[in-house]
Amino acid sequence: MQKLQMVDLKRQYAKIKDQVDAAIQQVIDDTAFINGKPVQQFAEELQTYLGSKHVIPCANGTDALQIAMMALNFQPGDEVITPSFTYIATVEVMALLKLTPVFVDVDPKSFTMDVSKIEAAITSKTKAIVPVHLYGQSADMEAILAIAKKHNLYIIEDDAQAIGGHYTFADGTKKANGTMGTIGCTSFFPSKNLGCYGDGGAIFTDDDTIAANLKMVANHGQSVKYYHDVVGCNSRLDTIQAAILRIKLRQLDTYCSARRSVADFYNNAFANHENITTPFCASNSYHVYHQYTLVLDGVDRNEVQKLLEERGVPSMIYYPVPAHKQKMFASFDVADMELPVTDWLTPRVISLPIHTEMTEEELQYIASNFLEIIASLKK
Ligand SMILES: *Cc1c(COP(=O)(O)O)cnc(C)c1O
Repeated sequence: MQKLQMVDLKRQYAKIKDQVDAAIQQVIDDTAFINGKPVQQFAEELQTYLGSKHVIPCANGTDALQIAMMALNFQPGDEVITPSFTYIATVEVMALLKLTPVFVDVDPKSFTMDVSKIEAAITSKTKAIVPVHLYGQSADMEAILAIAKKHNLYIIEDDAQAIGGHYTFADGTKKANGTMGTIGCTSFFPSKNLGCYGDGGAIFTDDDTIAANLKMVANHGQSVKYYHDVVGCNSRLDTIQAAILRIKLRQLDTYCSARRSVADFYNNAFANHENITTPFCASNSYHVYHQYTLVLDGVDRNEVQKLLEERGVPSMIYYPVPAHKQKMFASFDVADMELPVTDWLTPRVISLPIHTEMTEEELQYIASNFLEIIASLKK
């Protein structure tokens, strides 16, 4: 058995090597490194895949979130409602733009925003809700859309971990993650579900005016060359990355199924265990398992991680410190916030290897060692 990894991109590349190598070579032959043809082609293909009217490629997922908030013209002091139980990028851009993140707790089962807590967090300064489709599972968008509509708020979906997944509304309508709110933002960081071979990101919207603003902000605030209407930034998807993403987009559904099969295997292996809670999958969410994250109770999570490592099984903690406890927010007066579920989950979550190329042998090795270690640690 090869050395186990959280994500194995080498084996994935091996399967598409000929196509990828040829696509990269083509970009070099064309020397169209910036805004070459594949960038627009990829944007159009992703539009079709998602069923979104506009896809604006950009440099990374963090930029996507920042550009979204700039394009909606949020001003310093505006409040944005978001979970603290997320990757820091979601809230870092709010701080950068001098917005005030207002944290709400998450649901202990789905790990996504607890929608029953949103309305109490709304004030006259609230501009938007930023739900995160954490670990590959859709946030409860039907409820979030209803609240946003009632209070006239924007929704910016952080879809960095859930591209390829979708949500089913009560009336049976299915919508791709990232296409339900005002704007959706994603990342093509290599380990993401649709990853490129460097940095990349994209922004989705169905609104023509917002799309024009997003493009302008991402391009130095200009819509006509050398005429700069607003302060923007420089955020582009490299042509080489777009060329790779075109190939990988055709595999995305297969990649998502592979991840779901890995999750099924683990779910069966760890079912009905007193110390392990397997990931809850809401019936209205097509979960694409960017991470396979368990909750451990009654055993020392950090000890489990150490013993796994000794047996060559990597694991990760996403995330060891929630946003509201990060030093960067020390001046925001949020550290004392009551987020009991976030604070309860943080020392208990653990993520096991999940990627598109896992073998039965690897899964068996990981699951049996994980169970043995937990049994050995139980008092
Ligand atoms: C990865 C990620 C981002 C940021 O994407 P980058 O491309 O790394 O900038 C934002 N939000 C979440 C939830 C992420 O997982």
